[in-house]
Amino acid sequence: MTAEIIAVGTELLLGDILNTDAQFLAQQLSRLGINVFYQTVVGDNEKRLTDTIKTALSRADIVITSGGLGPTHDDITKETLASAMGVGLKLHEPSLQKIEDYFKRTGRVMSKTNVKQAIMPEGCIVLENNNGTAPGGIIEKDGKVAIFLPGPPNEIVPMFNESVFPYLCQKSDSMLFSKTLRIIGIGESSVEEKLSELMKSSTNPTVAPYAKQSEVTLRITAKAKDENEAKKLIDPVEKKIRCELGDAVYGTDNDTIYSVVCDMLKQKNMRVSFAESCTGGLLAQSITSVSGASNVFSQSFVMYSNDAKHRLLGVSEETLEKYGAVSEDVAMQMAKGALDVSGADVTISVTGVAGPDSDENGNPVGLVYIGFADKENVSVKEFNFTGNREKIRMRACVSAYTMLREYLLNK
Ligand code: ATP
Ligand code: MG
Repeated sequence: MTAEIIAVGTELLLGDILNTDAQFLAQQLSRLGINVFYQTVVGDNEKRLTDTIKTALSRADIVITSGGLGPTHDDITKETLASAMGVGLKLHEPSLQKIEDYFKRTGRVMSKTNVKQAIMPEGCIVLENNNGTAPGGIIEKDGKVAIFLPGPPNEIVPMFNESVFPYLCQKSDSMLFSKTLRIIGIGESSVEEKLSELMKSSTNPTVAPYAKQSEVTLRITAKAKDENEAKKLIDPVEKKIRCELGDAVYGTDNDTIYSVVCDMLKQKNMRVSFAESCTGGLLAQSITSVSGASNVFSQSFVMYSNDAKHRLLGVSEETLEKYGAVSEDVAMQMAKGALDVSGADVTISVTGVAGPDSDENGNPVGLVYIGFADKENVSVKEFNFTGNREKIRMRACVSAYTMLREYLLNK
C-alpha cells in the first residue's frame, strides 16, 4: 500500500514555516509499513492544488493533505479535494454543533465564516477536532482514500493519533516497529565492520546504523502484523548485536548517556560532582536535564580562571605556573579539590583548549584532560578532539560521561 503527503500552504513555500506536519505523517506512515514515494508542498491555489491532488491520486492508494481547513476564503483544501474526486459538499450538523460549542467553551464569538468548516464532502468519515474548530475527514472513492487534516501541529497530531492511525492500521496488514540501540565509545565504521554479516543478512528485521553527535545508533526495524510479533523478530537480533558490541551498547530508544549515568549513580547510591573549565557548566547542565538528578547531584564547580581554580578548589599555584591550566596535574587536582569540597563520592574534572585559538602555553586546540577522583583513586585521561569550539566542548562532555559510565560498570 502506498500513500502520498500533500502539505498545503503558501507559508510553507515561502519558507516562513517548517513542514513538520509532513515529517510527522511520514514517520507515522513508515511505522504502519505504508510506503511513501512522494511528498508535495503546494500553495493555496485552486488550480495547482487540483493538479497536485489528481497526480497523487493517480499514483498512490492513500492521499493525505495537511492545512487549509480554516474558515477564511484562502482555506480551500477540503473543497478542492472534494471537487477533484467528484464528491459534493453538505453541511454536517454534528460538526456545526461542535464548532458552536467550542466557541462557547473558549468564550469567543463565532463568526459566520466558521460555518464553512462544518461543510463536509458528502459521505466522508468525519474526524473530530478536539483541539480546534476544523474537523478533518476521510473520503473513500473508487478504491482510493483521501484524508484531509488541519495544519496546526497541535491539531493534526492528536487527530492523526486518535482517528487516522487506527483507521490505517485496519487497512494495512502489517506495520513497522523499530528499536534503537545506542552505542558509545566506538565509531560507526567499527560498528559496521563488526556487524557487517548481520546487517547484510538481515531482511526482517533490518539493521541500519546512524552516526549521531558523539555516538552511533543502530535501528532495528521489523515488519509484522502487530507490535508483539515485531518484538519477537527484534529480540534475537538485538541479543546478537549486544553479544558482538558488549558494553558499548549503553542504552535504547529514548535513553541518553546522561540519563543512563544518572540511573547508574542512583542504583549505586552515589553522588557526583564536576569541576569544569573549558566545558563551562555543560556537564552540570547535562545531568540536570534528567529528571531525578537531585538524587545523584548536589553541586558543581565552573572554574574558568587560574585564580578560581586555586582559591576554590585548592589547585596549587606552582602547578598552574609550571604546567599551565591545561595539564594532567591540574585536571587531577581539580577533581581531587572538587571531591574534598563537595563531599561527593566521585568527581570528574575537565580542562582543555576549546579553540578557536591555542592557549598561552601553545597547547593545540582540542587538547583536553579529563580528571577523575573517588575516595581511593585519582587519575586522568588525555584527549585530542577535532572540530569547532562547540563540538570540542560537547565531545569533552560526552567523553567525561563515558568515563564515568565505565567506572560505574566496574564498580
Ligand atoms: P487554521 O484553521 O488555523 O487556518 P488550517 O487547517 O487552515 O488551520 P493552515 O491555515 O494551512 O491550516 O495553517 C495554519 C497554521 O498551522 C500555520 O500558520 C502553521 O503555523 C501551521 N501549519 C500549517 N501547515 C503546516 C505544516 N505542513 N507543518 C507545520 N505547521 C503547519
Ligand atoms: Mg488556514
